[in-house]
Amino acid sequence: MPRPLVATVHLAALQHNLALAKKIAPASKTWAVVKAHAYGHGLARSMRGFAAADGLALIEVDGAVRLREMGWRKPILLLEGFFEPADLPMLAAHEVQAAVHCTEQIEMLEKSALRTPFDVHLKMNSGMNRLGFTPDRYCAAYERLRAIPAVRNIALMTHFANADDADNAGLPLAEQISRFHHICEGLAGERSLANSAAVLNHPEAAADWIRPGIMLYGGTPVSTSAQALGLLPAMTLSSEIIGVQDIGPGEAVGYGSRFIAERRMKIGIVACGYADGYPRHAPNGTPVLIDGMKTGIVGRVSMDMITVDLSAIPNAHVGSRVTLWGAGLPIDEVANAAGTIGYELMCALAPRVQVVEQS
Ligand SMILES: *Cc1c(COP(=O)(O)O)cnc(C)c1O
Repeated sequence: MPRPLVATVHLAALQHNLALAKKIAPASKTWAVVKAHAYGHGLARSMRGFAAADGLALIEVDGAVRLREMGWRKPILLLEGFFEPADLPMLAAHEVQAAVHCTEQIEMLEKSALRTPFDVHLKMNSGMNRLGFTPDRYCAAYERLRAIPAVRNIALMTHFANADDADNAGLPLAEQISRFHHICEGLAGERSLANSAAVLNHPEAAADWIRPGIMLYGGTPVSTSAQALGLLPAMTLSSEIIGVQDIGPGEAVGYGSRFIAERRMKIGIVACGYADGYPRHAPNGTPVLIDGMKTGIVGRVSMDMITVDLSAIPNAHVGSRVTLWGAGLPIDEVANAAGTIGYELMCALAPRVQVVEQS
């Protein structure tokens, strides 16, 4: 018997969320971002869910090749590009496009003697100071790429630090947008800037292509709830109660006795722990649904179990249905309670968790 812990991936939600992104940016083409095993949802499954996308973008070189092997015919983009010279012939052969963000990558291309045409996305560091060429070095990098015979199209890209917080004094969003477009003036090539937060809050950043990730999975990076935005959760993590304890005042629950009861209580033991991807730092009160009713965890998260307060759910018993996040309990709400973000919870789903697909 498998453990009752199951992640259900809702293909219809992937399709719905993609359609919503396309509706918000009707003039743009869409790279559906499927890095990190499609944010924990599975690459093959998400490829099917995102059949209507114009392209798929990811980080993993082997994942890009796998997408081709699984039959994806439309564009594929590696958001960090290639990592070593040996990647190049393989990527060119599979028609995988690559970001170019540093001089070392340009050198690899120059030395590669590639014959197959290769499409690149020149990345600008417009202020985030992570990957990319600074504005003053961008045009020179463009010219150098232009001179490489195998380089066919050069697209222009940058990434936002604060699309969820546009007025951030460290780097206002408008500053990044204007730096990018100012430098790109006169350079041929399709432009892409917008992650989910920009798609949702800043239509002015949409350009030729958008690059949404988290919103396609039903998470929101902005302050408006996913539900209010019309996004549907693409993953429901559910389990069952596998044990019940009745405890009295002064009795403690779990490792370190972090929770001590003040009154008589019923405690449910749920088959899901940090080895499944549940956040170990989740405090007492982190929300959980038992048979559709909301309660909270009590005591430390263990490797294979969490403990929840069943005091207000007297009918709960071994076998009662538990929702950790997803339909009925937004992942952002759980993440927020646990001091993290929905992205991290999705990506952390552990390999031992059984995944089932729902059309
Ligand atoms: C991950 C990523 C995205 C998608 O970001 P979300 O916040 O998940 O929408 C877009 N562009 C790049 C370069 C990325 O690495």
